[in-house]
Amino acid sequence: MSNKDVKVPAAAGHIVRNEELIFERSRPGRRGYLLPELDVPDTGVESLVPSELLRDDIEGLPEVSEFEVVRHFTRLSTWNYGVDTGLYPLGSCTMKYNPKVNESIARLEGFCRSHPLLPDFLSQGSLEILSQLEAALSEITGLPYFSLQPAAGAHGELTAMLAIRACHAKSGNVRKTVLIPDSAHGTNPASAIMCGYDVHGVTSTSEGLLDPADVERNMSEDVAALMLTNPNTLGKFEEDIDKVCEIVHAKGGFVYMDGANMNALMGIARPGDMGVDCMHLNLHKTFSTPHGGGGPGAGPIGVVRQLEPFLPKPRVVRGEDGALRLDFDRPESIGRVRAFVGNFGVLVRALAYIYTLGAKGLREATETAVLNANYIKHRLEDVYALAYEGDVLHEVVFTDRRQQAYGVKNGDIAKRVIDYGFYPPTMSFPLIAPGAIMIEPTETESREELDLFIDSMRAIAEECENQPEMVKSAPHRTRMGRFDETAAARKPILRWQSPKERVAGA
Ligand SMILES: *Cc1c(COP(=O)(O)O)cnc(C)c1O
Repeated sequence: MSNKDVKVPAAAGHIVRNEELIFERSRPGRRGYLLPELDVPDTGVESLVPSELLRDDIEGLPEVSEFEVVRHFTRLSTWNYGVDTGLYPLGSCTMKYNPKVNESIARLEGFCRSHPLLPDFLSQGSLEILSQLEAALSEITGLPYFSLQPAAGAHGELTAMLAIRACHAKSGNVRKTVLIPDSAHGTNPASAIMCGYDVHGVTSTSEGLLDPADVERNMSEDVAALMLTNPNTLGKFEEDIDKVCEIVHAKGGFVYMDGANMNALMGIARPGDMGVDCMHLNLHKTFSTPHGGGGPGAGPIGVVRQLEPFLPKPRVVRGEDGALRLDFDRPESIGRVRAFVGNFGVLVRALAYIYTLGAKGLREATETAVLNANYIKHRLEDVYALAYEGDVLHEVVFTDRRQQAYGVKNGDIAKRVIDYGFYPPTMSFPLIAPGAIMIEPTETESREELDLFIDSMRAIAEECENQPEMVKSAPHRTRMGRFDETAAARKPILRWQSPKERVAGA
């Protein structure tokens, strides 16, 4: 008898697959508490709660034992995949291990309990954090003035574009257009349009880089700014950035750099030195705050002197007595973009991260991020086609070009990656690389973990050739198979629903 003939009994997992059994544990009369007998007169709930606050439409609440509740939530927690479970190779997202000690530092009482309405003289410690973080980010980017208010990368883009618009408007020089390369992140055109500009695209060369001659052709006195992502979304450094900046400046425009990929540059090269006028950083990608899950982030922006008057208010300034204060007296400011000083806890984590690593450590983080991406590129480029040839920095973009010969698409490969125990890479982004498979390992993954991932990707490439149907029907090892991804994104059901609610929603 061969192994194939053995009838494998349904594993426990098959039982758990039954959704009704997972979620419908309720049985009338079960409970997880024991209350002592009433030793006061029972006057009825109406005598305790005003009748207008009483609801009579609550039904179908689960009745379960404590044991079942604990098992239910413990089981759900193990179904989630996160950076604490394994490699999270999403490109353009920088899903890295973030030192847990910075969580403790952000939770120190003096930081997390300091009320944002405390007067300045009682907030010197918190203001010191802000002031030192601004200085550190200036040092890292080469841009002398920072605003820490924006709550996300895209929010920083919008803030900087508002400052650019205010700066041009001040001299009566209203401009209508923003140039954006096709290799930029999708938030860049969105921010420019929210700011009221028309967006004009600039095409990348066959190497996936900006062509200065093309920027020159598109540049005019109607262009307020060029927004570029550097390294761009192909993981490539814009080698002609200095020339590009000169061209834009010559016609009175500003250069905005999306710095979400700063973990490819920090400690080595400074955008300010390249001629960039303003940029944002994603503290929740590069500087310690965990990214993902929709938690708070921070997208501080750095600007040159010319744009400083337009930064959001208040700004942290040091008075003649040496004390720090929040300065609201900024007549040209675009105003507030966020309550108080921004997401303070995220700012504390960033400063802790920067001070822990120091200049040498930041450089090493960058070098390791770039080395890891190039290691993956080197070990996979014989089985997956590169979107663009040439060097990359912190991330590498392959495509499904070779696997398509067997009818397998990048989305199928993504599902199969899950069977191997990893979160899938970013798929179908950037748009200029059809069938994109974009991988960013980050600096925090070990050689062993990268090898496991690479071996899995190589095994999948082989499966695409030899058993394409198996890849196309993946995942096979998860509790659920393929979802209607559009419905899951557009109409997510994020909590338990009573049978009545479910009928109403269906
Ligand atoms: C993540 C990212 C953004 C947007 O940042 P959010 O904080 O998600 O708004 C912008 N540009 C690039 C290159 C990014 O990777």
